[in-house]
Amino acid sequence: MSEATDRIVAALQQADIVPMAMALLQLQGDTALLERVAPHVKGPWAHQAELPQSLCQEIRGRMRDELVRLAAGGKPRLPIVEPALLHRMLGAAVGEPVPAEYIPMISEQIAFRTRDEAACQPQQHTSRARGGEVDAVIVGAGVSGLCAAVQLLRAGLKVVVFDKNDDVGGTWFDNRYPGCAVDTPNHFYEYSFAPNDDWPAYFSRREDIQAYLAGVADRYGLRRHIRFGREVVAARFDDARGTWRVETRERGGQTHSQTARFLITAVGQLSRPAYPAIDGLDRFAGEVVHTAKWQGDPVGHNRRVGLIGTGASAIQVGPGIVDRVARLTVFQRSSPWIMRNRNIHRQVSEGKKWALRTIPFYGNWYRFQLFWAFADGLYAMLQIDPDWPGGSRSVNARNQRIRQSMVRYLERKMAGRPDLMAKLLPDYPPYGKRVLADCGWYDMLLRDHVDLETTPIARIEPRGVRLKDGRLAALDALVLATGFEAACMLWPMHIVGRDGVTIRDRWGDDNPSAYLGMTVPDFPNLFVMYGPNTGLGHGGSVMFLAECQTRYILNCIALTDRSGGHSIEVRREVHDAYIADIDEQMKGFVWSHPSVTSWYKNAGGRIIINQPGRLVDYWNRCSTIDPSDYRIG
Ligand code: NAP
Repeated sequence: MSEATDRIVAALQQADIVPMAMALLQLQGDTALLERVAPHVKGPWAHQAELPQSLCQEIRGRMRDELVRLAAGGKPRLPIVEPALLHRMLGAAVGEPVPAEYIPMISEQIAFRTRDEAACQPQQHTSRARGGEVDAVIVGAGVSGLCAAVQLLRAGLKVVVFDKNDDVGGTWFDNRYPGCAVDTPNHFYEYSFAPNDDWPAYFSRREDIQAYLAGVADRYGLRRHIRFGREVVAARFDDARGTWRVETRERGGQTHSQTARFLITAVGQLSRPAYPAIDGLDRFAGEVVHTAKWQGDPVGHNRRVGLIGTGASAIQVGPGIVDRVARLTVFQRSSPWIMRNRNIHRQVSEGKKWALRTIPFYGNWYRFQLFWAFADGLYAMLQIDPDWPGGSRSVNARNQRIRQSMVRYLERKMAGRPDLMAKLLPDYPPYGKRVLADCGWYDMLLRDHVDLETTPIARIEPRGVRLKDGRLAALDALVLATGFEAACMLWPMHIVGRDGVTIRDRWGDDNPSAYLGMTVPDFPNLFVMYGPNTGLGHGGSVMFLAECQTRYILNCIALTDRSGGHSIEVRREVHDAYIADIDEQMKGFVWSHPSVTSWYKNAGGRIIINQPGRLVDYWNRCSTIDPSDYRIG
């Protein structure tokens, strides 16, 4: 064997066998391989594929020969898989039937046809911006804003993006606490039009995600359209002209204004930190830092540190700082459900990166597996089965199964520590709140210098946290991992729609609503990205959401222009019926279960964050537009 072939053989050992088998099938056109592989695949994760050694060796050997053939100018025999076969292959790749309704979405998202950006090429538009106007102002250069900017620019529209920060990334720019990383598989937490085969880890650190987003901004020439350090403070709709007047402020206080035909807010739900309303917080003598405002080294070394919160940020920052603190006291109000994740700290091997880059179709199949494992494949966990006798433990049979697996994991980790076990077993069903991936949280809690306090906090005093039972946890620094002001969407922007109506008039502090999470009666030409009831409570990625919404926004702009109008506004009755339907559906979801309290609910008990549907439902709804939903003015 040549040196090059040796390298191929070594790399192939590190690549996952199922995506490789599917790729081989496409390369060689050997459909019989499907029947030989399928019976051994029990699920979408690599460890759920138990193919006989001889079959694995055969697949690797054939793939090696195939790559040599391709290198010599050979061509794949099935570059495009016809839908019936694709359907069977999809099911075989994840070990369960995948409904046919997924095929169009998967073909686009995983780009089975071409796997390049042409698959997502938006339809061309003609800019109608006049003078200094732009077609769209996009507020925010985070995940949603960048996606919208890429596609609107590619569609031929004139766009300006404002961001209060000095670089792109949004929440990934802001959140710099130790341990900050994505907890969605990275090869799925990326734009479908910009796949990255070089993620260093399966769950990469914030720096790598920030670098990826910066790379997208560079590759699409976005930076010249972005005004950094400019916060949008207000926007007012001009009914007569059908345009938005957008006011921005520089950090130094200087203000500017920009007229745009359309206003796209892409500020996310996680941009304004929530500070807990705990008496005495402002009198604490030591350092106080919110995870979303981490700068430098606020907790220092060898100090006694308190950590308030046990959500997604807390369970990363705790392990991120535990090695250098003298004592860490975690203040837990409720315990999260935590899942074992074998890949959470694993780097992607060079062989696997090579496979993603080199083996045609391998990346498609790998990404599809992740997509299924981490998105709609989990949807069945969410619905309350009225006949299920689960109480506050579980809401249906599948929900119970996932509960059991997480309880087993917790028991294994906490063997010999019944005190911790009792504190850590959640008292609500899984998926009532976000299920977290264990990134060292349980091991951290077992350390001698870590305490888990579940006694409620009475107040904060200059020297520490006073608990309701009278004890004082003496502290030098306090970390607030207390989440975000998600409910007060679009705050603190002052957004004024038709007839002087403000967004706060309509939404109050915590009751936002929008048709498809995007369009709001009385606010023509406004699109809210990652708005009310769009959050994916079972899985999925905000990148996916951004792509769905961008497509819909482009459809709306096209409809307005085709109709010769200058404004588009959702009909109130359409919006109201949509919201009534969502509210009704929510009653059947685990987030509404009486044992669950979370930021998904507002003070009135409405679920305002999550959407009730599957990803495929939202993708379908965003793919086309029903003109009768809108009034064109
Ligand atoms: P979060 O999920 O809202 O968690 C906030 C935590 O603070 C909760 O444990 C909450 O307790 C606690 N808390 C709030 N106010 C409190 C008070 N007054 N007293 C005591 N405890 C209090 O916030 P987060 O952890 O920042 O996560 C927010 C979202 O950001 C996540 O759902 C996720 O979407 C995203 N995120 C993602 C990643 C990632 O991809 N790796 C990382 C971080 C965040 P209760 O639970 O009892 O309310």
